[in-house]
Amino acid sequence: LGGSISRALQQMSNATIIDEKVLNDCLNEITRALLQSDVQFKLVRDMQTNIKKIVNLDDLAAGHNKRKIIQQAVFNELCKILDPGKPAFTPKKGKTSVVMFVGLQGSGKTTTCTKYAYYHQKKGYKPALVCADTFRAGAFDQLKQNATKAKIPFYGSYTESDPVRIAVEGVERFKKENCDLIIVDTSGRHKQEAALFEEMRQVSEATKPDLVLFVMDSSIGQAAFDQAQAFKQSVPVGAVIVTKMDGHAKGGGALSAVAATKSPVIFIGTGEHMDEFEIFDVKPFVSRLLGMGDWSGFMDKIQEVVPMDQQPELLQKLSEGNFTLRIMYEQFQNILKMGPIGQVFSMLPGFSQELMPKGREKESQTKIKRYMTMMDSMTNEELDSTNPKLMNESRIIRIARGCGRPIRDVMEMLEEYKRLAKIWSKMKGLKIPKKGDMSAL
Ligand code: GDP
Ligand code: MG
Repeated sequence: LGGSISRALQQMSNATIIDEKVLNDCLNEITRALLQSDVQFKLVRDMQTNIKKIVNLDDLAAGHNKRKIIQQAVFNELCKILDPGKPAFTPKKGKTSVVMFVGLQGSGKTTTCTKYAYYHQKKGYKPALVCADTFRAGAFDQLKQNATKAKIPFYGSYTESDPVRIAVEGVERFKKENCDLIIVDTSGRHKQEAALFEEMRQVSEATKPDLVLFVMDSSIGQAAFDQAQAFKQSVPVGAVIVTKMDGHAKGGGALSAVAATKSPVIFIGTGEHMDEFEIFDVKPFVSRLLGMGDWSGFMDKIQEVVPMDQQPELLQKLSEGNFTLRIMYEQFQNILKMGPIGQVFSMLPGFSQELMPKGREKESQTKIKRYMTMMDSMTNEELDSTNPKLMNESRIIRIARGCGRPIRDVMEMLEEYKRLAKIWSKMKGLKIPKKGDMSAL
């Protein structure tokens, strides 16, 4: 996908005369690519019409940066589709909220319920899980297992077959126990049967959720719009979570889900584990959808942030898939050297939300310095290793002793490394642009 869009834009910048035909060809190419990413046909068509209105042919003919103008226009249009204009309900600590999860079977509801609960628990909420899926055998066991692992209270039954009753009982119980985030997991069934929607409607009416969360598998394809709309017609969907974003799907269905439910995407699932869960961020998502990854921006930023003489070497290592602790160390050094401009670096994938939240730059700097102190106690072998198993218990204990910090701090730093390595590993196989042509990705 990325290939074809870059190609389309490339052809466009090669054309000496930008007439309507060239623009149309270019947009058609982008259209095809977006359809392949499961963006709904109607959305793509509307976007195409809008772009034609926005992009002024005269500007294009005169300007030198046609590629950027069109790319930016497409980018902005897609971002607009993902913003329904009103934020989703957010639970407040100390005040009871009920959040109900809906979605087809296998979309990831039960997994995502626990991720959502765990996420809020870490932020100081008191979550609880209620299993109102009485349809699938084993549904309660699955929720119980997840909840136990995360040490989150749960409620369900092996014998009761009425989901409404269980949902109400569970919500009542956890209200009494002063839980401030009561999460109701529901059944999905295989198809969009009328009975499922009636059941969802009843559970929703009985528990009066503050938020109904629609969970959607990113690989659902063009079916996303109808599916989301069908749920929205039965229950008051107020937000969307897109799962399995770690897979091949680019997740264009998310645009359909937003359009159909008029609700924002709030989180994405990026794996089967409890902490593979991220706040949804429109811009990186659209970049990925366009196949720019975060990498076109990344390449621009790398030029701004990484000293010129380090660039080829860094890119070479990343393209080989080797994001070592030493690379992380060097990037930290760059961030600190840049001072306030270090914020530029927070544009790099993975460095933004978690490591360097906006408005808390001082704290982030302190954290980065602390990580670097710990890394100073590592051996060259450890810094240059690409073997994730190398950092065993005895090495961690040795490092903690060496830098005089608790073991838990070293573990935290290694977790951060793992998180960044996972994101940056997407650079593997990257074709390294020729000198002076870094942004031509
Ligand atoms: P439910 O039927 O909607 O409750 O779906 P489940 O929560 O049981 O999930 C169905 C399958 O999808 C399980 O095997 C999950 O481990 C898997 N799954 C859920 N979310 C993700 C995700 O974000 N990434 C990946 N790779 N797998 C996921
Ligand atoms: Mg389930």
